[in-house]
Amino acid sequence: MEDVVIAGAGPNGLMLACELALAGIRPLVLERLPEPTTENRANGLVGQVVRLLDRRGLHERLAGPMGPPSPAFVFGALRLDLTLADRNPLNILGVPQRRVEAVLDERAAELGVEVRRGHELTGMTQDADAVTAEVTGPEGGYRLTTRYLVGADGGRSATRKLAGIGFPGVTEDRTVSRTANATVPAEFVDAASGGLRVPGHDVIPPFFHYRTETGLFVYAPFPTGTLVTTIEWTDEEETGDEPPMTLDEQHASIERVLGFALPIGPPEGDGPHLLRRLRGRNTRLAEKFREGRVLLVGDAAHVHSAIGGPGLNLGLQDAVGLGWKLAATLHGWAPEGLLDTYESERRPVAERVVMHTQAQSALITPGGDVTALRELFGELLRLPSTVQHIADLMTGADIRYTPATDHPLDGRWAPDLLLADGTRLAELTRTARPLLLDFTGSLGDELRGWTDRVDLVPGDAPGDTTALLVRPDGYVAWASGSAEPDDTERKALRTALERWFGHPLDA
Ligand SMILES: Cc1cc2nc3c(=O)[nH]c(=O)nc-3n(C[C@H](O)[C@H](O)[C@H](O)COP(=O)(O)OP(=O)(O)OC[C@H]3O[C@@H](n4cnc5c(N)ncnc54)[C@H](O)[C@@H]3O)c2cc1C
Repeated sequence: MEDVVIAGAGPNGLMLACELALAGIRPLVLERLPEPTTENRANGLVGQVVRLLDRRGLHERLAGPMGPPSPAFVFGALRLDLTLADRNPLNILGVPQRRVEAVLDERAAELGVEVRRGHELTGMTQDADAVTAEVTGPEGGYRLTTRYLVGADGGRSATRKLAGIGFPGVTEDRTVSRTANATVPAEFVDAASGGLRVPGHDVIPPFFHYRTETGLFVYAPFPTGTLVTTIEWTDEEETGDEPPMTLDEQHASIERVLGFALPIGPPEGDGPHLLRRLRGRNTRLAEKFREGRVLLVGDAAHVHSAIGGPGLNLGLQDAVGLGWKLAATLHGWAPEGLLDTYESERRPVAERVVMHTQAQSALITPGGDVTALRELFGELLRLPSTVQHIADLMTGADIRYTPATDHPLDGRWAPDLLLADGTRLAELTRTARPLLLDFTGSLGDELRGWTDRVDLVPGDAPGDTTALLVRPDGYVAWASGSAEPDDTERKALRTALERWFGHPLDA
């Protein structure tokens, strides 16, 4: 019997596989497609996920050392001036999704994960002890039994449907989004900003979501090639993928949105080149993230507009949130109810993403009332506190899992600590093990009974924090600012250890 079968080798399935492997569980990944997809969706990762990748050493593989936060971003096609925020949490990692998937695939292979490509999950039953999965592979159908099945099989998740989990929400079918790799003549490019000079408009900044009364336009000159995107609203019947999307169609769409026939040309280089038309938008959230021994992560659990690029920030953190809890359950040391905290922690985060992507989608819609709303929103976005609020919302920096103490870090994402010896917290978390950072030199005794599950990190660090219990997913389970934590704090530490990492060995 397998311990865990993961349906889907997209980014979230592969990330979960890596997390389980780091925690000593060898999952089996089933992927319907025979080869890694060349389709590109995400052009970049935005938010806390960038730090998360750094904490697993994956940022280095993708783009070298992590850089500073971005000075600006967009919210609902309005400029977010992040220099106004006291704490700027918004990091961007500008790599295409297929590269993220390739790096995760490589990492999973290093960790000994088996990915069976060309194997599709087609059926499933479960009882109290196991899940029986029906799989169709290149040589025909076969069955697998597993203690847990995780659906990481995308928005149309077979796992979710087979488990009978509802996917309520809305389907909006009036938008048409078109994206093409193309070239734009140099005379239209503004040398100073890298944006576009289009007659009838101010300079359109690069990567900016530019709204007009007829649609949205984005000019994105990536190092790998320029993308031009439009979104329009239509009452025409949906015609599926027919006729195939063309550069002429994109050209006409840009003319309708900008009121100017920007002369785009065919892309340069070998490609693969994107030429995509997408109709409509789904916003849906799974009724539950778990049904017995079946769990959902990523798009299988939630779909929403891609505006602002929140998909992988949400999905990859689902995977990391689930990985250690599932591994602890399989190892037998998980405290009662640990696995259920996956849903109680992650579903509210998904609800917030659904909320802000719907709000942003409303803000880009044509119409005079929306223009008025945008004017007001634009004024609000000149207030530092509003910028901070939106930045925290978009990045996930506002997440606080239920704290057990009133320490401000309890339940929060652990800050990027730099130890006195120059070690970054991100270097200590690559093993995905729970850590007790103890700068007081006095907490080793409290950890007795958990040393098989939690690593003690002695040392020193400047700042107010003297000790920190960090869960494998990067969230703080207990913290102290005392030079010598008193009995109450020590008791709270032991309670936190038991709450997240189970009974002590000698109990
Ligand atoms: C146009 C577009 C632009 C986007 N831009 C961004 C962005 O800029 N930033 C961002 O963070 N996010 C973006 N997203 C969202 C992001 O692409 C998704 O959130 C992400 O792909 C979800 O990953 P996943 O692993 O959950 O699912 P998927 O990527 O959908 O992977 C699911 C995998 O499961 C496989 N599968 C399906 N059914 C089965 C089965 N029955 N058995 C076995 N395997 C199966 C599929 O073949 C697939 O490989 C964008 C999405 C779109 C559509």
